[in-house]
Amino acid sequence: MEICIFTIKKFMSIQTNLHQVLTTLPTDTRLVAISKTMTEETVMQAYNAGQRLFGENKVQEIIEKQPHLPKDIEWHFVGHLQRNKVKFIAPFVSMIHAVDSLRLLKEINKQGERNERIIYCLLQFHIADESTKFGLDMAEAEELLNELNKEPLPHIRLCGVMGMATFTEDHTQVRKEFKQLRTYFDYLKNTYFKDDDAFKEISMGLSGDYLIAVEEGATIVRIGSTIFGERNY
Ligand SMILES: *Cc1c(COP(=O)(O)O)cnc(C)c1O
Repeated sequence: MEICIFTIKKFMSIQTNLHQVLTTLPTDTRLVAISKTMTEETVMQAYNAGQRLFGENKVQEIIEKQPHLPKDIEWHFVGHLQRNKVKFIAPFVSMIHAVDSLRLLKEINKQGERNERIIYCLLQFHIADESTKFGLDMAEAEELLNELNKEPLPHIRLCGVMGMATFTEDHTQVRKEFKQLRTYFDYLKNTYFKDDDAFKEISMGLSGDYLIAVEEGATIVRIGSTIFGERNY
């Protein structure tokens, strides 16, 4: 009985949190519910509240969860991805957010081909004032895109950019970094993807800063703890 009440309470709060977040988003901004460290049961509570797009950042975790969850979930992989692990997620993952090298992109293409799929990818840019965060700078991105022009990869589709702002209370700093990512997106769109309608995504913003990200033009936000509660690692 206690467990039952606890489960209902948790369900109500996940449902409430989810709807709270959705009411603050423009209708064309997509929400990736970041379910890392959450159980399948908890993911199902968001699913039953209507959420269909989920994201994970660890290969081991996503491949354990995915087979037990409904097949109409769209999975995004948002974490740093090692080339030797692409094969595990290629059969089902819809979008990979954190692509930061041509070698990784080629491996995703190869695994996409094996699975007879096209996998959507975003280029991750380094925008934070922290050395620990992964990502390209513009020179590296242009080098990658010039290589790609010579050798198209038919089983991947570049759909835009992704970035993580500095983890700080300083909103001015965070806003500046999101603006930077927006500038990168606009430049790439105009220079390389003018006629490619698929190149349209700016993935930025998480629980602590997504409202700023939305103001700066995010088309995809990645939100975990505001929906599911704090994580216990
Ligand atoms: C965990 C994670 C998020 C979500 O963070 P919250 O603060 O829980 O909203 C977003 N993006 C990436 C890449 C993450 O790893």
